Amino acid sequence: QAQVMDLLAELQAEYHMGLILITHDLGVVADVADKIAVMYAGRIVETAPVHELYANPAHPYTKGLLRSIPRLDQKGQDLYAIKGLPPSLLHLPTGCSFNPRCDAATDLCRSDRPLLQPVLDVDGAELEGRRSACHFWKETLHG
Ligand code: SF4
Repeated sequence: QAQVMDLLAELQAEYHMGLILITHDLGVVADVADKIAVMYAGRIVETAPVHELYANPAHPYTKGLLRSIPRLDQKGQDLYAIKGLPPSLLHLPTGCSFNPRCDAATDLCRSDRPLLQPVLDVDGAELEGRRSACHFWKETLHG
């Protein structure tokens, strides 16, 4: 995996090209990506510059993905897994598609689909490149 990533980075530098990586493993792209778009059930649910996403995610699904990355300093501990299974794209849950698996889900989440909206800092200014499709991105970000 590391060799393939190195090869892609070499090709990218040599040909001055953009590169889009699609992966289920956020650990793989931490060192090579500039920006990340997290998708769930066919929709983008969070975007952010890579280091901001890892340091402070603004969507519970991103949080779950980050928690599920195995860590060398936690040997012998159970791996974290997001509860439940991804939904069928033919029968998406109403409201937020992630609500059946989300510990923070409320009635609002079950009725209204959250749009991808700007993430703001504590002074109300938009954080560049940051978007979240969660009704409670503020609580997620600062929780
Ligand atoms: S909108 Fe609600 S269910 Fe969806 S991720 Fe946010 S808190 Fe969870």
